[in-house]
Amino acid sequence: MTRNRALLLTRQDLDGIQSARGYGFRYSLRVDIRTTRVRNVLTRTSGFLKSVTSHSLQPYRGCSLGSSLCGVGCYVRHNLWLTEGRPWGSFVEVRENAPAAYRESCERERRWARRSRGRFGVFLSSSTEPFMPQERRYGVTRGVLEAMLAEPPDLLILQTHSHRVTAYLDLYLELAERCELRLHVSIESDRDRLPGLPPPASPVARRFAAARELKAAGLETVVTVSPLLPIADPESFFAGIARAADAVVIDHFIEGDGTADGRRTRLTALPRAMEEVEASSSQLAYRDAMVRIARRHLGRVGVNVDGFAGRYLP
Ligand code: SF4
Repeated sequence: MTRNRALLLTRQDLDGIQSARGYGFRYSLRVDIRTTRVRNVLTRTSGFLKSVTSHSLQPYRGCSLGSSLCGVGCYVRHNLWLTEGRPWGSFVEVRENAPAAYRESCERERRWARRSRGRFGVFLSSSTEPFMPQERRYGVTRGVLEAMLAEPPDLLILQTHSHRVTAYLDLYLELAERCELRLHVSIESDRDRLPGLPPPASPVARRFAAARELKAAGLETVVTVSPLLPIADPESFFAGIARAADAVVIDHFIEGDGTADGRRTRLTALPRAMEEVEASSSQLAYRDAMVRIARRHLGRVGVNVDGFAGRYLP
């Protein structure tokens, strides 16, 4: 049985979103929510993710943060198979049986992964936000994490753009005793705003605070600067990351969006907004300059997919 309903997100749902008026960017806060069931929730990775983990896991399909700042440059919005032509940010499918689906297939997938990829690693999530506001109501991500306590992968990477990641600290501490656990918190810049674009769903300061809380709890915490946006004060920004995380990953939309020249992202409003703030920021040389600064502050700095995989610069 599939149920549909439309949800008009409130200010509380999208922390930090105030109004797009005055920013010249038209976007909709209307999100269609439906609950659905999946046969298999563990997807064997290919392409970009293949060298990172053996599997990805999406508790939801679509993302209700897609109308906020991170949604403009979100690499997933270009996936026509996933969006089926729907505007990114306008739909969420809640995979309500994801915890049960994980339990049913994890033993088979563990065997396959150890045989063909060396270990059973799960990336949660690569094409949705596990801690979107709807998680409060549906708890699918929490259910999956609880299932993992009984059947842990060898490696779990939790990737988020939201300060809400700290809600399940209790589970992370238990999981960290049963598998290698890495928490990736995306913080793309020290700026909350780019001209003409909507505000972030999760303000920079709150994501920094979340990363600090995770690190202080003794959890392996990585800030993913992905995709890299113009940074107002790079020295302070990376010094702040060094206090909030154990490592940093810097990922530019060029090479990062699945094309060698960033042509997918160039179809969006993001590059022009970046250039308005810092003309060089839409070029790879800007990433390399940020990497040099990051290395002054952190011992572990990764670039693009290598960083996501935990392979850092020597
Ligand atoms: S939270 Fe992640 S998946 Fe959702 S729009 Fe932002 S970048 Fe994309």
